[in-house]
Amino acid sequence: MQADRYSTNQSVQTCTWCNSEYAEAYSRARETGVFCCKKCEIEAKFWLRESLGSVFG
Ligand SMILES: [Zn+2]
Repeated sequence: MQADRYSTNQSVQTCTWCNSEYAEAYSRARETGVFCCKKCEIEAKFWLRESLGSVFG
């Protein structure tokens, strides 16, 4: 068993965009439970907007 890298009251999430694990408390993204950082959040939303844009115009 490895020791916990994060203290017990910090939940570890997996970034939806880059798939890396991160401590939710350290995320700089607005949606901290979804993205590990602002960069991923922006890239994901840009991609989503591009994708949806081709569907919904
Ligand atoms: Zn990420």
